[in-house]
Amino acid sequence: MLKQYLLTAGPTPVPERVALAMAQPVLYHRAPAFAEVLKEALAGLKWVFQTTQPVIVLAGSGTSGMEAAVVNFLSRGDKAICIRGGKFGERWSNLCTAHGVQVINLDVEWGQAVRPADVQALLDREGDVRAVFATASESSTGVAHPVGEIAELVRARDTLCVVDAVSALGAFDVPMDKWGIDVLVTGSQKALMLPPGLAFVGVSEKAWGACKRANLPRFYLDLARERKSQDKGETAFTPAISLVVGLCEALRMLKEEGLDNVFARHLKLADATRKACAALGCQLFAASPAPSVTAVRVPAGVDGSALVKHLRTRYGITIAGGQDHLKGKIFRIAHLGYFGTFDILTAISGVEMTLADLGYSFELGSGIRAAEQVLRVGV
Ligand SMILES: *Cc1c(COP(=O)(O)O)cnc(C)c1O
Repeated sequence: MLKQYLLTAGPTPVPERVALAMAQPVLYHRAPAFAEVLKEALAGLKWVFQTTQPVIVLAGSGTSGMEAAVVNFLSRGDKAICIRGGKFGERWSNLCTAHGVQVINLDVEWGQAVRPADVQALLDREGDVRAVFATASESSTGVAHPVGEIAELVRARDTLCVVDAVSALGAFDVPMDKWGIDVLVTGSQKALMLPPGLAFVGVSEKAWGACKRANLPRFYLDLARERKSQDKGETAFTPAISLVVGLCEALRMLKEEGLDNVFARHLKLADATRKACAALGCQLFAASPAPSVTAVRVPAGVDGSALVKHLRTRYGITIAGGQDHLKGKIFRIAHLGYFGTFDILTAISGVEMTLADLGYSFELGSGIRAAEQVLRVGV
């Protein structure tokens, strides 16, 4: 038997409490017991989104929330700026293009964060931009983009700030109301500690206003209809009932820990991971790394694809490699959601043993030692 460890940036490990809650008999979604569950979940989502506005729950992966953020707020031919610099920034651009939105791409080198001044310049040059699409944590490169500053730039304009926070929300601070983010999207399988299958969309008052004028076709992802139903403790269509029950439990766990402690835990795990990689002689890929996932350059002479495969097949540890042109060039150690000290030590130890197996020369144990220095609790 090879014991398996899932240490990717999504799906992430599911806590026992959440798994057990989801194992209960399925509730009927038009009965009061489910209405109670949904009510608690919706209140908890407002808390984790840090907003007074309703957060809409959809059955679908994170991308369904992203698609909802396009089709509910834009019309055919509208201009939108899409910040690209990784797989998920590209997804915004592809989604907008698919729906006939006039896309202005702001390309950022993979591994770099967007400069707010470049967004400003593009907004000034283009004039009537209806929305800026950004990514809080670009999971494919490990970069955190300055979405708070981008929101600030569009605040006084007739432009929405739409943020993909799928690998950010619940891992680090993305306060929706305080930063003035208009549409904030996340999914269940990252920091919210659930299996895949739910998307969540927070919508500002300004965005609800834009929703009334927007004419892109929508049916399943119609957020105004969902809002009406969810205000009454129902959903428009059959919800992913067990996942919503699990969501309640996951939100309880986050509340018990407290948001500040949740963020501090993520920062500490990120710090330990980065110090360990430095001790191994591996460089970080991201210029401004996100607290949710660390992208690391594969050291010279090592085959990155072989590294990820060896870890999985020989040690039972699943981490992600690089995508597209980064394939074989980076590997990514996740630390978001239900992650703790020994997940990081497991990942680092597995990477060390794999690097040694693949012939990379370094002092075995040096990464673990560096991580332990960060993670030990003291007296
Ligand atoms: C995981 C992820 C998504 C959502 O992808 P799905 O596969 O549709 O759930 C979107 N954006 C980012 C940054 C992600 O990490």
